[in-house]
Amino acid sequence: MKFAFLVHPLSHESIALVELNDGNALANRWRGGDLLDFCGILHQTMTGTNASARPEPRVRVIDHLTGLVSQRGAKCDGRLYEIPMGAAEILDDPVRAMGYMEQAVQMAAEWGAGIIGLGSMTSVVGGQGTYLAERTPVPITTGNSMTVFAAIENLRHACQEAEIDLTQQTVAVVGIPGSIAAAAARLLAPEVGELLLVARRSSARATKLAAELGAELLLDIPAALGRARLVVSATSTGSCIDQADLKRGAIVVDVGVPADVQGSAAERDDVLILSGGLTQVPDCMPRDSMFLGFHHGMVPSCLGETINLALENRGEYFSLGRDLRPEAVREIGAIAVSHGFHFGRLMSFGLALSDSQLARYRKAVTRARLLSTGSQLKKQSSANGNGHHENGHASAGYAETNGHNGHSPANGQAMTAGYGESNGHSATNGHAQSNGHASAPHDAASAPSPSDLAPRAGALYGRYVNPVLMAVGGKAGFARTFVRGHRNTLWDSEGREYLDFVAGFGSLNLGHNHPRVVKAIQEALAHEAPGYAQSAVNPYAAALAELLVSLSPAGLEMVFFANSGAEAMEASLKLARLATGRTGLLSCDRSYHGKSLGALSVTGNAKYQKPFGPLLPECSTVRYGDLEALTRAVATRQFAAFIVEPIQAEGGMIVPPAGYLKQAQEICRATETLLIVDEVQTGLGRTGSMFACDKEGVEPDILALAKSLGGGLMPIGAMLARRDLWHKAYGSLYTFALHTSTFGGGSLACAAGLAALTAIVDEGLVENARQRGEQLRRGLERIQQTTDPVIKEVRGEGLLIGLELFPLRSSIVAHWKQNDPSGVMQYLLPDADGLAQGMPTMYLLQTLLTQHGMYTQIARSNQQVLRVQPPLTITEEEVDRFLLGVEQTCREIEASSSLVDGLISKSVAGHHDASGSTGGAVLSFQTMARVAPPRSGAKQPE
Ligand code: PMP
Repeated sequence: MKFAFLVHPLSHESIALVELNDGNALANRWRGGDLLDFCGILHQTMTGTNASARPEPRVRVIDHLTGLVSQRGAKCDGRLYEIPMGAAEILDDPVRAMGYMEQAVQMAAEWGAGIIGLGSMTSVVGGQGTYLAERTPVPITTGNSMTVFAAIENLRHACQEAEIDLTQQTVAVVGIPGSIAAAAARLLAPEVGELLLVARRSSARATKLAAELGAELLLDIPAALGRARLVVSATSTGSCIDQADLKRGAIVVDVGVPADVQGSAAERDDVLILSGGLTQVPDCMPRDSMFLGFHHGMVPSCLGETINLALENRGEYFSLGRDLRPEAVREIGAIAVSHGFHFGRLMSFGLALSDSQLARYRKAVTRARLLSTGSQLKKQSSANGNGHHENGHASAGYAETNGHNGHSPANGQAMTAGYGESNGHSATNGHAQSNGHASAPHDAASAPSPSDLAPRAGALYGRYVNPVLMAVGGKAGFARTFVRGHRNTLWDSEGREYLDFVAGFGSLNLGHNHPRVVKAIQEALAHEAPGYAQSAVNPYAAALAELLVSLSPAGLEMVFFANSGAEAMEASLKLARLATGRTGLLSCDRSYHGKSLGALSVTGNAKYQKPFGPLLPECSTVRYGDLEALTRAVATRQFAAFIVEPIQAEGGMIVPPAGYLKQAQEICRATETLLIVDEVQTGLGRTGSMFACDKEGVEPDILALAKSLGGGLMPIGAMLARRDLWHKAYGSLYTFALHTSTFGGGSLACAAGLAALTAIVDEGLVENARQRGEQLRRGLERIQQTTDPVIKEVRGEGLLIGLELFPLRSSIVAHWKQNDPSGVMQYLLPDADGLAQGMPTMYLLQTLLTQHGMYTQIARSNQQVLRVQPPLTITEEEVDRFLLGVEQTCREIEASSSLVDGLISKSVAGHHDASGSTGGAVLSFQTMARVAPPRSGAKQPE
């Protein structure tokens, strides 16, 4: 159906813009692509240089919305007809305005419109469409029902974002008894804590509505704003809300035309001002028109209603007059949603509300409350003279007590959510009730479970921790929210189960929540072991040091406790410099020793180093496994130490030639260069011996440990060193405290470490790593031999295995690059080729995750290598399950890549047009996946 929509210029700028676009000139110039030319013309017009050229006032078509298709495939075409009067002029002279509107309706009827919508002020004058409705054969709608729907959806969505419970709130609806405000008030009344109706002057309609809804009627906007945190505003006067009058944390949904909130930008961080009457058109809808393309497809909902009625072929007087029907509001909302219109995008002063604005809002609201609550609690407790009580209740006070209903939903969650008042958690997690101590002070502070926190976790991660990870990993589905881990299994927030073949990059040799480690931590807590007491003796640290020394290679007798692998490396590098008096540091290419500046300086990976330079001077690398290069380098006697991993795990599970480490030790000794062996990842049983360097009987001068030393639960790292070296560096009153760390050697971490080491030994996990490693290697090698060409190499030792896949076939990479519609992909992504090469491995990772419930990751420094690194507690049956998943997926990769390669290379034209055979999609790896044979057809292992 065809539709028409009546509009009028909203501002000086919009007049200029429409002038400029007369005859689609703007769009044409824009399409010409000369940005400077475009800006010049725009500027000229805006500054009014062209004003004299403006034509006589007349009704005219200012935009064509042609070929609109909804998500359900419904179609319509439309035109925007402009009345040559501004908002104030229309209100001043409604009679003249009605004349123009009748003309526009006439033109639309002649064009064949089946429904006519009224935009902005054209829906206010003439009795909200009733005058026109009597004078035209074409049905009229004001579109106001959908505007009400949008406003309420916006309010709900904003409350969700701000964790505000609508049912506990005072909400003011400004603009009573206008049609939009009245309908919004009717719909909100049953849902909100308290409703205030706000009118400019008293009227019988307003009083009647207040009585009907049991709401208070106020005639003073500032007074209403002082009471309500949530405001829906829909007046036709505009500028009636001063931002300064809003409560802290207020949210205003403004559908007023012109806008009700004063100013052209938010003036305070602690309030949200939303353009609440907008809707987002479906993604599939063409945006050729200037209007639909504007603001990335956000349109006023009154236009949205008109489009939806046209899509439904409903030439009806849908929204007319002052009394909008609540059922009509719900109905048009449901229709719009079914056609793919969205109401979840929050806009403020014409722009999408950014994560940063939301974060500032939350911070402004939360900080002020937390700080004032804290000081109130202090005052209260000193008045009570009960210091202990104060501590017990501290977190209970963080949640805001809503003055109007006096509820106090406080629990530990309130602190987490910060700004939340009565958030869902407090009612549902039931901590306080479940243990039968509802009134005990500590219950209020009980910690939330991962599942309690999971629903918001992805969004919070994207906003506060890593937006890129969430944008990419979230969409591709590999950034899961895990809420439980037991032994070798993980569970995500949706209850799906995964075998963990990442094992915390080597931190989970004992699996998740190993009972002995859990018990050790619980018991340390039960003993009230002091967490930290600096320059004093910690019994747990002393015992752990003794055990570490007993288990480690000969010569290592001194222990320094740190908190991570990188810190263990820092300690190692500093000790080496101090003990030798040399400053140079030698390491290997492709090595990985951590990302703090010192550890990074000896990490052989330019990608990680370059952005942070200059790093430590006098650091050099030699090729890993190259003894001659090492000999030449250390002969200079300038290096304090040679730093090496027994297997380069992050570098792609690279195993050096047999005897490399042992010979490296000899070469270093000959030149008094210290040998630092980094066993952060290879240590504690991972490779089938307690330390990887044990295999060749290597005795490092310094050894770095971390990861699984914490038993998978506590962060702890350690440097083990020769006694003489330690004395040279730190053995005097002036030097013994030169290198320290506040948290190093804390009670819980060391208690966990003790339990972890004992469990590894007692449970025979080193031997299990050897046996399961063998099983894995043999299985993977068999898959390698029976799928061709998918797996390039299987390498590693024990349960530190890398599976290197062949890169994507060159024909497919070339095709992918040529078909990049923008042509800029390869320049935008610094490593587009690398990314393409790593696609088969990515596909394996994703398929294992989504189809087989196996969690794996890719080696940090080599995108073609899948790391196969389960906990050392993995069972024979679990390894078999994993192998089955890998085999099925490798068969898919084998089948699909040869199919796609065939499609490309055998195409008649020499280059393949993918549209025929793959449904119009550019051949990507996703397409490859789609053309892969059905999973059930995958060959089972013999
Ligand atoms: N060294 C090696 C060999 C590692 O594998 C790692 C971590 N992957 C580190 C050092 C750094 O450890 P962390 O991330 O705990 O700083």
